[in-house]
Amino acid sequence: MDDFCRSLPKLELHAHLNGSLSTNTLRKLCKMQNVNLKDYESMLMDVNNFSSLGECFKVFDIAHSLTVTPEAVFHSTYDTIKEFKDDNVIYLELRSTPRSVPGKMTKQEYVEAIVKAFEVCKTDFPNILVKLLISINRKQGYKAAQENIELAIDFFKKYPQYIVGLDLSGDPMTGGTFLELLKKARVAGLKIAAHCAEVPNETETIDIFQFKPDRLGHCTCVHPTLQGSNKLFSMLLDTKIPVELCLTSNVRCKTVPTYEIHQFKYLYEAGHPICLGTDDKGVFHTSLSREYETASSTFGLGRQELIKLCLSSVQYAFTTLEEKQMLLSKIEDFNQKLNDTTN
Ligand SMILES: [Zn+2]
Repeated sequence: MDDFCRSLPKLELHAHLNGSLSTNTLRKLCKMQNVNLKDYESMLMDVNNFSSLGECFKVFDIAHSLTVTPEAVFHSTYDTIKEFKDDNVIYLELRSTPRSVPGKMTKQEYVEAIVKAFEVCKTDFPNILVKLLISINRKQGYKAAQENIELAIDFFKKYPQYIVGLDLSGDPMTGGTFLELLKKARVAGLKIAAHCAEVPNETETIDIFQFKPDRLGHCTCVHPTLQGSNKLFSMLLDTKIPVELCLTSNVRCKTVPTYEIHQFKYLYEAGHPICLGTDDKGVFHTSLSREYETASSTFGLGRQELIKLCLSSVQYAFTTLEEKQMLLSKIEDFNQKLNDTTN
């Protein structure tokens, strides 16, 4: 199954750029900035011992402290795309919060560096199609959210082939959801992906459902076995909004106690639209192949079920009909070859 999951042409719809940086990339960035990685390495080693979501967010701060110049952002993006490509990901949506670092980089330059890496990767790695969602970090407040949305709209006009949507993310214990701002982005034509119910918050969860984002992230606390969450679970099923599920991330951050009772099981059994993602492959030492393997071994999914997961992910991707067709035919070709060898 390991080899099968690796060779499967996969779609990654939930990956944060900074959390996706591998130790190799972090080392390279340290070198570029003359920083000693030793202090960081001990924290990275702790990844298996996180006791809370709060501790996970600390590790993102490491990556953030290293992506402080357009050059660093370019290399981070380039390496991350290459690593996903090496894992046979054929379609990748990265998400990232534009950052300004006084004297070093503006938010504009941050996004431009990502676009530049996309351009170069298009030539270097023609087998992977890449898009960007501009993130709004709840913790940074209303003004930053407004700035990022305006930036996203500007870049969407300039590079509609790359900038396709907005992502609402960041520590769910802080800040608002800025739904009225997201509306503006939606009117401009951007797709919306919203992290939802990572911590119990019924009012906010219902607000997000009613806003009807194009996709939802995690929905950890919308779980049929959680006390009081039954109503939310059936509301979610009614919305039919696809949910991006990140098994390793949720278990490592301890927002879900075990793989066996991960919301994947219940949403999958209910036939709700879902897709698998890594969230932060660098932070959690995972890969999309590994997420497929985990889904297979935990929930008993066979090869055909995994192929179906890839095929349905195409439907939820923020991409053009033409590109969807191209992605579908890659997966169908793979399936055909598989049938030919088994028959
Ligand atoms: Zn996420």
